[in-house]
Amino acid sequence: PVSLANACWHARFAAAVPDMAVAWTPTTVPAPSALALNDALALELGLDPTSLAGSEGLAVLAGNAVPAAARPVAQAYAGHQFGGFSPRLGDGRALLIGELRDRHGRWRDVALKGSGRTPFSRGGDGKAALGPVLREFLVSEAMHALDIPTTRSLAAVATGETVWRERPLPGAVLTRVAASHLRVGSFQYAAAWGEGESLRALADHAIALHQPQDIDRPDRYHALLQGVAQRQAALVARWMGVGFIHGVMNTDNMTISGETIDYGPCAFMEAYGPRTVFSSIDVAGRYAYANQPLIARWNLARLAECLLPLLHADEQQALRLATGVVDAFPAFYRAAWLGVMRAKLGLPGAGDDDADEALAQAFLGLLQPRQIDFTSAFRALNSAAVGDESRLRALFATEADEALDAWLGRWHQRRHGAGEAQAQAMRRANPAYIARNHQVEAALEAAQERQDLAPFERLLAVVRAPFDERPQDAAYTEPAPLAVTAGYQTF
Ligand code: AMP
Ligand code: MG
Ligand code: MG
Repeated sequence: PVSLANACWHARFAAAVPDMAVAWTPTTVPAPSALALNDALALELGLDPTSLAGSEGLAVLAGNAVPAAARPVAQAYAGHQFGGFSPRLGDGRALLIGELRDRHGRWRDVALKGSGRTPFSRGGDGKAALGPVLREFLVSEAMHALDIPTTRSLAAVATGETVWRERPLPGAVLTRVAASHLRVGSFQYAAAWGEGESLRALADHAIALHQPQDIDRPDRYHALLQGVAQRQAALVARWMGVGFIHGVMNTDNMTISGETIDYGPCAFMEAYGPRTVFSSIDVAGRYAYANQPLIARWNLARLAECLLPLLHADEQQALRLATGVVDAFPAFYRAAWLGVMRAKLGLPGAGDDDADEALAQAFLGLLQPRQIDFTSAFRALNSAAVGDESRLRALFATEADEALDAWLGRWHQRRHGAGEAQAQAMRRANPAYIARNHQVEAALEAAQERQDLAPFERLLAVVRAPFDERPQDAAYTEPAPLAVTAGYQTF
């Protein structure tokens, strides 16, 4: 493995779409110090983990030095934010340092977030505060451990600098690793500003990265749209399966790769409620839990519009192809969601789609009026599947809940013939540990107010092993006291 500074850096994005990359350097900071370093991810990238912690590595991770072979760029993109179009967003506080080939031969973007102003910063300071940086590190690692496609966090580094939000806060820089940073908003930018060929170049670059098998197909742009539809349907279904609420599904925060990106106001739902929203800026509930698949389709329609000129020379044909994919999204999503729910409920065989959907909805229908914790309820099903219903019954206010009894009867009947394969799928689909909001807040507060990283490190260790229950971590399975949950806001 090589050091971060001496790695073999590439600048493929800038070479593919020069109109969308602005060469730029990070702003220097006074006193870098490591908050969290991801040794396992460093190894995956073919990097020597010890090279991150040394002064040379820290300088790169803080933005004080640029690796000799790297050519950092700020990436241009556009986006619909809460439904309103901004033709020019771009990396206002991020920089793509470059691309590396990982140990499996896959290309990975390495980018800094919070590395200072860029030509896209508008009124912003280009900086990040320590709390949100640690939050992204923690939640992205939790998602990865849950086997959900996501950008990763290689490092969180304190800058020794004060960042002003509503009050002075310690500053930090996050190093984000992604399959790519291509977003729906990247295509919106190319479609809005591109001199004709940049849209095609961007699409070809995306296909080469994310669907190399389609590169020689004459209908490859249609295949790209379809690929994005399938990856996003699968991703959102996975979010729904763990109660993840992204919180800001703007088109600039929806990837082409199918990875979760931009951990801003995200949070995990506790008591099951389809309308749940945590972000205070989302007053209309546009990005509420149950809206996520609808928004993913809306965003996909924005991508489809951008791709029209590439889909077919004839406008009507292009429109027909684009509409076909957008209209197919609900079916892609339903299939993905059924797959997730069958795993969570431990259902054997293919089963009848409508009946299985009804069974899953009926379980959720039990949780909602009783304000039952989503994660705990599904986890308790793992025990119920092997004959111990006590954990599940304990979550219900009364031991003798007739609606629960009736549902359990249906479920046991449907699970007839289920074996070890289903039990194992359940254990992997129903985690014991998620990054619970009150635990996340407590960890970030200790780090921010008292320079105490111990609660953060403890919580990180817990969410990195979400499936195996450990007696000493029992407190981390508990939902927040209701008083805390009621007014909880992430942003
Ligand atoms: P987000 O809501 O995180 O997806 O960001 C939306 C846009 O605001 C992106 O173009 C960001 O680069 C930009 N942005 C967010 N925070 C800052 C900041 N502190 N300084 C400059 N630009 C920012
Ligand atoms: Mg964003
Ligand atoms: Mg953000």
